[in-house]
Amino acid sequence: MYTANTARYENMTYNRCGKSGLKLPAVSLGLWHNFGDNSAYSNMVDMCKTAFDHGITHFDLANNYGPAEGAAELNFGKILKENFKSYRDEMVISTKAGYYMWPGPYGDWGSRKYLIASLDQSLMRMGLEYVDIFYHHRMDPETPLEETMEALAQIVRSGKALYVGISNYDGPNLERAHAILKELHVPFIINQNRYNIFDRTIEKNGLKQKSKEVGTGIICFSPLAQGLLTDRYIDGIPEDSRIRTDGRFLKEGQLTEEKLANIKALNEIAKKRGQTLAEMALAWNLKDDYITSVIIGASRSSQILDNIKAIENTTFTEDELKEIDKYSK
Ligand code: NDP
Repeated sequence: MYTANTARYENMTYNRCGKSGLKLPAVSLGLWHNFGDNSAYSNMVDMCKTAFDHGITHFDLANNYGPAEGAAELNFGKILKENFKSYRDEMVISTKAGYYMWPGPYGDWGSRKYLIASLDQSLMRMGLEYVDIFYHHRMDPETPLEETMEALAQIVRSGKALYVGISNYDGPNLERAHAILKELHVPFIINQNRYNIFDRTIEKNGLKQKSKEVGTGIICFSPLAQGLLTDRYIDGIPEDSRIRTDGRFLKEGQLTEEKLANIKALNEIAKKRGQTLAEMALAWNLKDDYITSVIIGASRSSQILDNIKAIENTTFTEDELKEIDKYSK
């Protein structure tokens, strides 16, 4: 039976999620990759234990994480049952629905029908009575926002989620969602969006600013640009890297000559700061108080241990920031 490290809360930073009562670790662990049926179960267990032993209390999932869809929740459910049973109240577990999950008109997007059924399935796969945060995974332009938000309200009222969040929304739609959820007295506390040195979309689409204004938190996904913002690809494409082992979302074509040159330049800046590129990239996200947490992915425990070190230095000089901006394409 697993016993967690008694020193697990000593070095992690916990940030308040917007104006809510919930605090999240500055570094969270995401199960999008490396928790499906094509990965070794023993490695998944090892990564969850390493994370938890170092203060990572927050685990991020979605209905469709795999392969196959649902597999990450099933595997995580097994890990919970076998190792973390006595630690449930020390964990924040998140899941989502909004992307394709099952065939037909009720397994995708943002209807009340889909969201409620999907969360019931997620809870069953993970063997849980509730999740801590349930997200609508992407804006649905065809379903009235009121319907999607009312589904989130019902989910909280039924006790199946404690808090709700939205993912991949922009500033104006966040504002609309916030207004509806406020009227419904729903604890909407968090926005999950892609944000990293290479992708500044939330600075341009109003999400970052609006989130601050309404008092919600921001949690950044793919903070390492799926591994590009690390030393992984500096000397070529390793056989055990995401590009080679799971090219579903990170394709070799994205590693252009310009990108590689920028990665190398950023790596030099990181070295001067005494950080790995991964540590610097995460520190860059965490440097401002708009950001509650970064959700890292990992293919092995050593990466989690490296990434946690990011919180040791999240301060940048103006010159460093300008230099980083030069290589941000
Ligand atoms: P990252 O940008 O953190 O990329 C993770 C990958 O980078 C790892 O799998 C590993 O790849 C490599 N890596 C990590 N740390 C290091 C290190 N220290 N040194 C070298 N390489 C490293 O995140 P992800 O793209 O995996 O996304 C993280 C999470 O965000 C997901 O699991 C999910 O929970 C969430 N997410 C949410 C989305 C949404 O729509 N809401 C969309 C996408 C993600 P390698 O295999 O090469 O070792």
